[in-house]
Amino acid sequence: MRCEICGKEAKLKRALVEGVEMLVCQDCSKYGMVLPEKRASPVLKPKKKTLPYSRDVFEEMKQELVPGWGKKIREAREKAGMTREEMGAKVGEKTNTIAKIENEELRPPDATVKKIEKLLGISLFQEVEGGVIKKKEARPLTLGDLIKNEK
Ligand SMILES: [Zn+2]
Repeated sequence: MRCEICGKEAKLKRALVEGVEMLVCQDCSKYGMVLPEKRASPVLKPKKKTLPYSRDVFEEMKQELVPGWGKKIREAREKAGMTREEMGAKVGEKTNTIAKIENEELRPPDATVKKIEKLLGISLFQEVEGGVIKKKEARPLTLGDLIKNEK
């Protein structure tokens, strides 16, 4: 019998490597979870391993503002015949904070953005599926990648 990972002729163990049951040698068994000799209860199905998303991907998944959001806010406010002061009072921000937001000097917190959206009837958040789509387009993981990811 040969190890299914390195091909070495050795005494093999059954191990669960990334959800796939394999016969591996002692050395390679560390890449997975060694299974007991007797089949464990069938309830213990191998769990699909969640992809190790990087922190960056999580960052990308935050709500993004549309390009030119400051201008969009200003135009919508002017269209509504509202002064910065009036708008500030309605969304709970100071007049000069509104000015900074309109100049994109200040990225308002999501809660404030939502208030502005509601007040002016505009939408300021972008669809943020970009990060996820990027992930889907990635080439399928090879066993080598999976082993690297284990570390
Ligand atoms: Zn091996």
